[in-house]
Amino acid sequence: MSNSDLDDDARAPSSANAEVAQLFAEIGDILEIKGEPPYRFNAYRSAARSVGNAGERLDVLFEQGRLRELQGVGAALEAKIIEYLKTGRMASHEEARRDFPVALASLLQVPGLGPGKARAVYQELGISTLPDLEEAARSGRLREVPGFGPKAVDTLLASLDQLKQRSSRGLISDAWAAFGQIREVLGEDHLAVVGSTRRMQDSVGGLDLLAGRDDAATAEQMLQTIASLPNLVQVLDRSSDDVAVQLYGGLTVHLTIVSPEAWGAALAWYTGSRAHVARLEALAREHGWELSPFGLEESATGKLIERQHEAAIYERLGLEWIPPELREDDGEIEAAQAGSLPKLIELGDIKGDLHTHTNWTDGTENLEDMAKTAKALGYQYIALTDHTQNLAMTRGLTPERLEEQRALVRRVNQKLAPFVVLHGTEMDILMDGQLDFPDDLLRSLDYVSASVHTGFRQPREAMTERMLRAISNPLVNTLNHPHGRKIGRREGYAVDMQAVVERAASLGCALELNSTPDRLDLNGTWARRGLKLGAKFTISSDAHSRSELEFMQFGVAMARRGWLTPADVLNTRPLDDLRALLAARRKS
Ligand SMILES: [Zn+2]
Ligand SMILES: [Zn+2]
Repeated sequence: MSNSDLDDDARAPSSANAEVAQLFAEIGDILEIKGEPPYRFNAYRSAARSVGNAGERLDVLFEQGRLRELQGVGAALEAKIIEYLKTGRMASHEEARRDFPVALASLLQVPGLGPGKARAVYQELGISTLPDLEEAARSGRLREVPGFGPKAVDTLLASLDQLKQRSSRGLISDAWAAFGQIREVLGEDHLAVVGSTRRMQDSVGGLDLLAGRDDAATAEQMLQTIASLPNLVQVLDRSSDDVAVQLYGGLTVHLTIVSPEAWGAALAWYTGSRAHVARLEALAREHGWELSPFGLEESATGKLIERQHEAAIYERLGLEWIPPELREDDGEIEAAQAGSLPKLIELGDIKGDLHTHTNWTDGTENLEDMAKTAKALGYQYIALTDHTQNLAMTRGLTPERLEEQRALVRRVNQKLAPFVVLHGTEMDILMDGQLDFPDDLLRSLDYVSASVHTGFRQPREAMTERMLRAISNPLVNTLNHPHGRKIGRREGYAVDMQAVVERAASLGCALELNSTPDRLDLNGTWARRGLKLGAKFTISSDAHSRSELEFMQFGVAMARRGWLTPADVLNTRPLDDLRALLAARRKS
């Protein structure tokens, strides 16, 4: 392939799907800035998501009369898609742009700067970009805009700093969803996830894939398929054996073609981490061998030792096969040499989910449907843990409504037996560490978990004291999402987590591994630290809908990265054992 061919490929236009999604998203942003009601701008945003992530091309869907199968696309939005497919334009987008520049939407990313303030900043000062906004804040010009007193300007500058530090890393769930889509297009054999996604890091830089193909023609076809995925934004790089593309939503996908004969060596090499592979290379050198993505070979003669099977490469190097989640050069090589790798927890070990929400607060579905879905997943129980009164924005339960919920729990339990709904709570930890419900009420529940949901900016010492005080109450079984971070949105609270984990371990209060993909809190690093201190854990989905119950797999991945075994996790126990453990904590 000549260089000019490569250049042509690199200029491949982004797909109509990505472009329409972008236009819809921009219309949504401008409608929000204009002050339109949420249902209007949310309609555009949800259509943007479903168009952007669709597994089929819009023109194909149009020809087959299937555009309205896309979630959130009704008659009106269908007409706009068709208009775009036929003319390359969208009148309502042009109309929206007449009032406000599209760039203004970037201001909505600033924490605390809502649409009203973004509008005011533009109308008063003509500012529509983040650098201009920062300049106006620093020069004092921003003070001319109503609503920007000295304190508000200081807060804004702090928020702008926070925004700059925000990482551009993607969610592990998005990477695996993209893999599912690509596998469907490419077919399954000899296609594998490698890199940080295979190691199940709590956030990923992109999705790295390997495909095993020998003949150039099929390899070329695969690369071309990736370079023309329906949700493609741009081709970033392309050669005869690899391609990197950016998909709608920002995820980068990198596919490398390798020889099927060297499959095992390539898997080990591209899975990483770099530090782990460096240790493998060093072990190979001790034998006079060399490890590369093409195989394990004798350095002097080039004679092949092994290349086809990953486990065989580990074996030749004197190691047990090491699960990808552990490949961080953090003791796993030594453990594999000694044959003492832990028997890591698996999704199938989970007997129930201890963190779920329903439409009594901010969940979207009713308890019976949530419970039935959990039962279908093979669980024996779930804990219903709706929010409490302090979190008013979720319609958090008052003691009275919690009492009312009891009758519902009883009814669902009668209906679904032997499946059991534990009546629990996700209780707010108040600013001073007091709990949102009195002890008597907590004692009457099957399960009590506690969370910080407010006052994120508390100083580190106050936040630490607040959590320590809350978990010191023996009625609290679990501390939920201890760090409070949202990946790509906000850092965790300032808190002495080491002190919190130590205290939880010594008191027998469990720590949650929250499985929601943008939380993953605690993550693997903290799970491992907790394990060393003797802490116990729960792994829960924090599902707000039935489909979110499947988040559990990501929390299990964090547990595996933390070297946890089933014995370290409360909800691997059958119900009776779990109840006994919960009761034991309460008597402490
Ligand atoms: Zn929560
Ligand atoms: Zn929750």
